[in-house]
Order: sequence, then structure tokens, then C-alpha cells
Amino acid sequence: AKESGKNCFLFFRQYMNEKVSEKLELENKLRKAIKNEEFIVYYQPQIDIGTMQVKGVEALVRWNHPIEGIIQPAKFIPVAEESGLIVEIDEFVMRTACKQLKSWIDSDIEPVTISVNLTSKEFQQANFVDLLKEIINDTGLRADFIEIEITESLVMKDIDVTLPVLKDLKSMGVRISLDDFGTGYSSLNYLKRLPIDTIKIDKSFIDEITEDSKEEAIAESIIALAHKMNLSVVAEGIETKKQLEFIKEQKCDKAQGYYFSKPLPVDEIERLLSVPSIY
Ligand code: C2E
Ligand code: CA
Ligand code: CA
Ligand code: CA
Repeated sequence: AKESGKNCFLFFRQYMNEKVSEKLELENKLRKAIKNEEFIVYYQPQIDIGTMQVKGVEALVRWNHPIEGIIQPAKFIPVAEESGLIVEIDEFVMRTACKQLKSWIDSDIEPVTISVNLTSKEFQQANFVDLLKEIINDTGLRADFIEIEITESLVMKDIDVTLPVLKDLKSMGVRISLDDFGTGYSSLNYLKRLPIDTIKIDKSFIDEITEDSKEEAIAESIIALAHKMNLSVVAEGIETKKQLEFIKEQKCDKAQGYYFSKPLPVDEIERLLSVPSIY
């Protein structure tokens, strides 16, 4: 038994070593990918439920690997975050998305807002607000066309650092959206202190609203609470007509999900934005 315990440990150590080198390998690949500009931005429409028109798009990064093809964020964002490389990737996404929106506005494509995802790494950078100002200056985009998406856990991680940054962004006119809402902790207590405009109800609640479930009650309460606080509500992960009907009944403001469209590369989202009211 002792012998097998020892073997077990050796296997475990070997396994951990492999995990560590896998991570280092991915980190090196990411570094190279940044240098070679292998990242691209996909866009997923957000639909205004009142008018059923596209009112915004969320920018979502993809890694366009020369051999492996399109790689989804779940495969590389965690390591990019841990290594800090996410800061460079997100700067690229932000620049690309802002430039894109400006060019849509200039070519009379229905104006939409652009939402970009940020991590706590950006908030730890002393000059993040300046960077965003610079991007706004370079692109000539109005700040209130930009929305940043942050999660509760990001905000709560170090509220003394994040809150002043959020207030700076807010005073520039940038909109702030609380992503994956309902999955974090302590949300309600802090909600009133945060300078946010929008909350996004997490997909996990939307998934379960087909039955008379607890999730349905939670989604209902979140929407009511948000409206009492004058916040706008986006439901994410809408996949069925039934889910859409439910959030419509609850007076949710916007919807996002495969029911309308998956995230699309720029030429495809442009086609979608050029057609008036397709839903
Ligand atoms: P998120 O911000 O919560 O984004 C929503 C995710 O749900 C996206 O996955 C989107 O494609 C997916 N989704 C949207 N509608 C549906 C639906 O109806 N059904 C299902 N099953 N999924 C749906 P994606 O693009 O793979 O991104 C995953 C996560 O990676 C994002 O979650 C976000 O946390 C992170 N991420 C993506 N792009 C960026 C980025 O540019 N910067 C940073 N920092 N994080 C990013
Ligand atoms: Ca998001
Ligand atoms: Ca989300
Ligand atoms: Ca998420």
C-alpha cells in the first residue's frame, strides 16, 4: 500500500509538471500570437426588446491560429489573464471595436453601441483610463457609444482600486455593464454604490426559465430590482422563443443569444446591421 501511495504521488507530480509546462507552452504561443496579430474580433448583436432592433454589439475575441483555425476564448483567456497577456489582447479588442464602430457610423450603418469585456488586470494598470481616452481620441468615437463589461467578482476583488476607475470612466461618459450578474457574491449590497448603467442576467438563470423554477423567480426579481434602481437589463444566452417571451413579459430591456445570432465575424455582422429590423 505504501508503494502504491508513492507511485500515486509520482504520477501526481508528473501530472502537475505536465500541466505547468502545458501552461508555459500556451503562454509562449500567446506571446507569439500577439506579435503576429493573430487575434480577431467577433460581434454578437444585442436586441432592444421593445423595437426588436439591434441596439448594440458585444465584441468577443477569437484567436485565429494559422494551423488550428479559430480558437474560442475559453481555451486561452484563463492563461492570458494569469500571465497578464490579457492586457495587450484587450487593448487590441478595444481599439479594433472602437475603430469598427466609428467606420459603421461614418458609413451610415445603423448606430449601435459597442460592449467590450475587461478583466481585473486592466484595472490594476495605473494608466487604463488614459489608454481609453487615447483610443477615443484616435478613433473620434463618442464615449457614450462605448460600454465596458465587468463582472461582480472583478469589482469586489479590490473595490478600493476599481471604484475610482469606474467613477473616472463614468465621468467620461463611458457606460458600465455588470456581466454574469447573479453568479457572484454580495451583489445587492454593493449594487447601489457602483456607477453602473446596465446589468446582464447570467445565462444560467435564463437556461432554467422554461419551467416554473427558482431561476425564473430569480430572473424576475433581478429585473424588478434593476428597474427600481433605474438600471437597464440585458438577458444573455437567449436560445428559445419561450425564453424571449418570458423576459419580454418581465419587461427586460435587451436580449442577446443564439436565438438571434451567434457572435459573427465583421463581414457577417455588417450584413446583419445593414438590414433594418430582421427579427
Ligand atoms: P461573456 O462575456 O459572458 O460572453 C458571453 C459568452 O456566451 C460568449 O462566449 C458568447 O458567444 C456566448 N453566448 C452568447 N449567446 C449564447 C447562447 O445563446 N447560448 C450559448 N450557449 N452561449 C452563448 P465566448 O465568445 O466564447 O466568450 C466566453 C467568455 O470569454 C466571455 O464570457 C468573456 O468572459 C470572455 N471573453 C470573450 N472575449 C473577451 C475579450 O475580448 N476580453 C476579455 N477579457 N474576455 C473575453
Ligand atoms: Ca460579456
Ligand atoms: Ca456574461
Ligand atoms: Ca462569463
